[in-house]
Amino acid sequence: MHSTIKFRTRCLVLLVLFLSMLLMELQQQQTIAQFEQRNRQLEISLRQQREQLQDVSRLAEEQTRELWAEIEKHQLDLMAVSRLLEQGRPLVPRRSLLAARSGRRQHLRQSFLELRRLVDCQQSELSRLSQAAREMFQRSIPSGSPCAGEMTSGFGCRVHPIYGIGKFHQGCDFTAPYSTKIFATADGVVLRSDWLGGYGKVVELQHPSGLCTLYAHCDELKVAKGQKVHKGAWIATVGQTGLASGPHCHYEVHRDGKQIDPQPFLASAPRGTASL
Ligand SMILES: [Zn+2]
Repeated sequence: MHSTIKFRTRCLVLLVLFLSMLLMELQQQQTIAQFEQRNRQLEISLRQQREQLQDVSRLAEEQTRELWAEIEKHQLDLMAVSRLLEQGRPLVPRRSLLAARSGRRQHLRQSFLELRRLVDCQQSELSRLSQAAREMFQRSIPSGSPCAGEMTSGFGCRVHPIYGIGKFHQGCDFTAPYSTKIFATADGVVLRSDWLGGYGKVVELQHPSGLCTLYAHCDELKVAKGQKVHKGAWIATVGQTGLASGPHCHYEVHRDGKQIDPQPFLASAPRGTASL
């Protein structure tokens, strides 16, 4: 009996030991599982932190690039400011500086276009004035005959038709009927329109070219002293006043107060023809 009890006691102790070991084993397995779970959580957290760190690194790189770009802009602005300082111009904020620069560029462009328009207008006006001056100068040089009719006596020595002696002829004679119209051979101003000794009734014109013309032995005088006349204007009629053997127009050209040969000035169409 006693041995049976001891056996049962031993079996119970063994059972308790076995159960204790089993419990310890279960506890260890649970601890390992918890440790593995914890390890997985740490891995996940570590991965997340690594990703956040990469995002932060990218953001830092972008901010660095932007910062460098901003620095370069400021350096450019600083150079512009330095140039302005060297030129003695007042400092203005960057935006105002850019706006002022843009406005100045626009203003310069408008000024350039306006100047170009003015230059074109001036050139056009200059061309017109030059053409007008050429025409005015040409119209101030005597040309053509003073009246319709044949030139019967030229400039130079000849036998005087009344005195019958050799005498220098100071002009050209155009024989024509009474009342034949005499025209100005150039633009000018009337210097004389009255009687002048042996010339009879004369008209003398002063031309802007510096030359003068004289029309003598006239019958009627159609202009007055001081009057402006244009080339081709009717200034007198053919007559026989003064020392004249018949009706004709004695025509003279003066330069520096002296008579010169009118022949070179008679080249163009005679007055009193269809050109008038
Ligand atoms: Zn004459």
